[in-house]
Formats: sequence, structure tokens, C-alpha cells
Amino acid sequence: MDTIRFSIATHRGCYGECNFCAITVHQGRKIIWRGRASILNEARALTEHPRFKGIIQDVGGPTANMYGIDCARKEKQGSCPDKRCLFPKICSRLTVNHERQISLLKALRAVSGVKKVIIASGIRHDLILADKKHGAEYLKQVVRHHVSGQMKIAPEHSEPHVLDKMGKSGREELITFRDLFFDLTKRGKQNLFLTYYLIAAHPGCTDDDMARLRSFALRDLQLLPEQIQIFTPTPSTWSTLIYWTERDPFTGKACFVEKTRQGRERQKNILADRRTKKPPTVRWKTKKRNSHR
Ligand code: SF4
Repeated sequence: MDTIRFSIATHRGCYGECNFCAITVHQGRKIIWRGRASILNEARALTEHPRFKGIIQDVGGPTANMYGIDCARKEKQGSCPDKRCLFPKICSRLTVNHERQISLLKALRAVSGVKKVIIASGIRHDLILADKKHGAEYLKQVVRHHVSGQMKIAPEHSEPHVLDKMGKSGREELITFRDLFFDLTKRGKQNLFLTYYLIAAHPGCTDDDMARLRSFALRDLQLLPEQIQIFTPTPSTWSTLIYWTERDPFTGKACFVEKTRQGRERQKNILADRRTKKPPTVRWKTKKRNSHR
């Protein structure tokens, strides 16, 4: 309960729309965010709680850095029915500006009785990169003050055709973000790590794709990720639709789905096997990503 008791929800909704995630389905694509005064009042109230030790465990929502960032169209007309906000590329009508968040975090740090404010909610690294004016400053603030030990991001995979089935951005953004993160930690003389969340056995993903992901992790990220989950069909998601129909609903084309328990475990183990850190020999596939959405 302590994690929840001393956390502050700043907003709800998510326009990330990852195909395997149900958050957009039950919270909507429009971000509803609280006013700054209301959030600061809650922080002050927490400091009066007898069990509060000065640490706010999380300030965020489904995606922490969507606070205060949304497009004007949704207010009057709702979200576009035929277009996504972030995929396959960030919509030009979405004004990505982290200034409001930087200011809020600064104010929270200044609340008397608060020693540390952690951002435990997920952060979209592609949104940070899209904010040319304040993205780097936001990340700097997060790295300096709001992560403890490691920052978690969720690239989920490395292979373009699997990422396409997931509705996620590509590995180029991940590498750019990683470089920016380590540049900031180096300059700040901080010993911080990036933790990568990845999915095995997502519809469209084969053993070979997991082997390529392993090679990518070892060669480009220089580690073997530990946070690997096997895809679980969740009600109402596009990925679940692909899982059951074995067909991509956006193209109508057949899609490979690993459904056996052994096969799903095997996919995870291809990446998780820590006995050897040698990258497996695989053929590199460069497949163009769909732009059908
Ligand atoms: S205009 Fe762009 S950001 Fe706004 S709802 Fe449509 S796709 Fe999303």
C-alpha cells in the first residue's frame, strides 16, 4: 500500500496505443490532467501523513511524460478515428512540450518535507526526442532528480516487422535516446542504468526474431535484458485480435502466432539464456515498416 499511498496521479489517458496494451481502451486517448495547484496541495497533504518519510514514490499516469501534452483537436472533435497520435510517426498536430512538467517537478521538489520525488510510471522516450526545445532538459531533470538507480523504458522489441505489429517506434529512436541518457549521466557523474522491457512471443514474432533481438541487445545495448515478459492476450487489444485470428487486421494478411506453451517459453529463453553472452548467428532482416495506419 505504501507505493500507492505516497504516489500522485497527475493525469489519466494515453495516446500511445501500443497494440498489446488495454490502457487506451479503458482510459481513452485524450489526456485529462490535473491542475498544478491540486497536485501541489496533494504533495503537501502527503507530508502531513504520519508514515510519510519524505519520498513521493511516483508522480505520473499511464505514461508519465504525457502530462500536459495533447492536441487541440481532441477537445472539440475527439481523437482521429483513422489516425494514431504516435505511430507510425508522431502526428504533426501534437505539440510536444515538456515545459509544464519540468516546472511541476521543480515545484514538487521544493515542497517542504519532500526529500525525493520519483517517477516510477513509464516514460515514452520517443516523446522526449520529439521535443526539440525542452526534451533534453526534461530528461536531464529526470536523470538528476527523479530516478533511483535505473530508468525503465519499454522498447519491447528490435525487429521492425514485430514492432509494426506492436504499434511501437523503432530501434533508431532507442539508440538515440540511450546515447542522450548516458551522455547526461556521464556529465552529471551519475552511475545510472537503463532497464529495457521486452516482449517475447508477440503475434508476428518468431524464434529467429528473438535471436535477432538478442544480438541487438548484446551488440547495441551491451547487455542481456532481464525484464522479458511473454505476450499475454488481454481483452480488447489489437494484439489479442491478431493472436486469435492469426491475421493482421490492418492488412488482412495472415500472421504467424506462437501459441504453444513450449514455443512461447522457448522464445523467452532465446533472449534470457545467460549461459553464453555470444550473439547467435542470424541473418539480418531489413523489412520496410507498414504505413497503413
Ligand atoms: S490530430 Fe494527431 S494528435 Fe490529434 S487526435 Fe488526431 S492523430 Fe492524435
